[in-house]
Amino acid sequence: MTFSVRFWGVRGSIACSGPGTARYGGNTSSLEMRCGERLLLFDAGTGVRYLGNALAGQTPLDADLYLTHTHFDHVCGLPFFRPFFNPQNRWRLWAGHLGKDMTLARVLGEFMMAPLFPVPPQVFRAQMQYREFKAGETLEAGEARIRTIALNHPDGATGYRVDYRGKSICYLTDNEHVPNALDKNLVAFIRGADIVIYDCMYSDEEYPSFVGWGHSTWQEGVRLCRAAGVKRLVVFHHDPEHDDAVLDGVAREVEKALPGSVVAREGLVLEP
Ligand SMILES: [Zn+2]
Ligand SMILES: [Zn+2]
Repeated sequence: MTFSVRFWGVRGSIACSGPGTARYGGNTSSLEMRCGERLLLFDAGTGVRYLGNALAGQTPLDADLYLTHTHFDHVCGLPFFRPFFNPQNRWRLWAGHLGKDMTLARVLGEFMMAPLFPVPPQVFRAQMQYREFKAGETLEAGEARIRTIALNHPDGATGYRVDYRGKSICYLTDNEHVPNALDKNLVAFIRGADIVIYDCMYSDEEYPSFVGWGHSTWQEGVRLCRAAGVKRLVVFHHDPEHDDAVLDGVAREVEKALPGSVVAREGLVLEP
C-alpha cells in the first residue's frame, strides 16, 4: 500500500509567480498525503487549487484536511478548492491551534465575508465537518496514526507526525526556534522519522533580522534531524524573496550537511 507525500505549494507568507521562482514554485503551503486508500491533505494555501483540480475527477471523496494554523497563506486556497463544491464529497477539516472561544467554522466565515470576500462558506456543496482538537492529541485516519504537537508561532500552529505501516512523515511549519537551545520536545516528536518537512524560511545568517516572525532556518532543521536520527530533511516554507538560484544554493548545502535531504518544490513526490 502506498505511503507518499506530494508537494503542491512550498512557499511561505505570500505566493510569488514569475520566472525567478518557476522551478521550485511560487504557491503557498499545500501537501497531499496518501496512506493506502486514505487521502490526507495538509494546509490549503494557493497550491491547493491545483490539487483540487487534479482531484476533480475523483468522486465521491471522503477525506481529511489538516491545517497547521489559519494564517492567510495556509487557508487562502480553501474557497478555490473544487472538491468542496461537489455534493457527493465528504470533508473533515481539522485545526489544533484555536483557543476555546474560536472555531474553525467561525474563522472561515470571518474571512469569507463581505467586504473581504464575495461569498460565504455556505457556498460549499460537499458535506463539510469542522473539527477542533488541542495540539498534543493523537488522531486517527484509517490505519494512519497522526500525532500532533504545538509549535512556536504567533497565534499558534500545530505540527503533525503521520505513522503508517512502520514508516513516518512529519510536517512542521510554521515554527520559530530558540537559537542554541535545541527543542527537546520537537526532537522527541520527530525521533526516528523517515521524512521531516520543516519550516526553513531563513538561513542562520538571515535569522537575526527576523526574530519573532515565527519561522526557523534550514540549519536548525539539520540540527533537529541529526539529534533525532531522522533520515531525510525537506526544506519547506520558502521565503518569497528566495529565488530559484538561492534555493539551489540551499539544496547543495543541505545535501552536504545531511545527505538525502532536499529542498521542496512543486510536483515533488516522496515516499518514506
Ligand atoms: Zn506560513
Ligand atoms: Zn503562520
